[in-house]
Amino acid sequence: MLNIILLGPPGAGKGTQAARLQAARGMVQLSTGDMLREAVAAGTPIGRKAKAVMERGELVSDAIVSALIGERLDAAAEQGAIFDGFPRTRAQAEALDLLLTERGRKLDQVIELDVDEDALVERIVGRFSCAKCGTGYHDVFRPTKVPAVCDVCGSTEFKRRKDDNEQTVRTRMAEYRAKTEPILPYYEERRLLHRVDGMAPIDQVAAEIDVILDGAV
Ligand code: ADP
Ligand code: ADP
Ligand code: ZN
Repeated sequence: MLNIILLGPPGAGKGTQAARLQAARGMVQLSTGDMLREAVAAGTPIGRKAKAVMERGELVSDAIVSALIGERLDAAAEQGAIFDGFPRTRAQAEALDLLLTERGRKLDQVIELDVDEDALVERIVGRFSCAKCGTGYHDVFRPTKVPAVCDVCGSTEFKRRKDDNEQTVRTRMAEYRAKTEPILPYYEERRLLHRVDGMAPIDQVAAEIDVILDGAV
């Protein structure tokens, strides 16, 4: 039962790769961004607190996201976990270690998707997903096979994230550089960190991740 982290700036491909791993390996994708968007949509107290912060592209508090992850880990006690978009700060990285240890689990690999910043804006601005099943697409890099029809569920309704605009992306990148990049050494020191070229096509990134998870690296 592997527990892994996917790290990388907004648009690096974390969600795309996590969804594939979830389907291919029976692991569970734990995306704090998805959890927070659900909370916002449901109008829960957490959602009401997080909404404006997310729309600005800033980080939600460490306590909130760590609590969300703890709940989901308990709900998926028998499955390997793919942490997608968590941790994003040193405090969250330490919280994750504790959450795992308390449950008799451990971190196996940390994969950083390395991408150049200019490409990220293009990726984020072209991102959309199926409104019914959540499958992620891109206008140019991952279009639906039949125009405007979801490959997976056949739905014709799609949505775009409110924070996927150039202005917010710049703030999110700055947050990544200031608060998330500094946690890389925390994992490097423990020899858990692997870098993957996130600029490669989606299938190639997936193949590189498979090699790492299968222990060949
Ligand atoms: P992306 O996939 O583009 O990196 P996410 O969906 O992971 O974005 O996150 C969207 C927003 O949700 C972030 O900009 C931030 O406001 C909030 N968020 C998600 N995960 C975290 C986290 N671990 N810590 C703090 N804020 C978070
Ligand atoms: P993240 O979760 O890191 O924010 P996503 O997985 O949502 O990133 O990817 C952002 C956008 O870029 C999506 O529209 C996705 O289809 C597309 N994408 C993901 N990986 C690649 C890739 N390797 N090459 C080109 N486009 C990609
Ligand atoms: Zn669908």
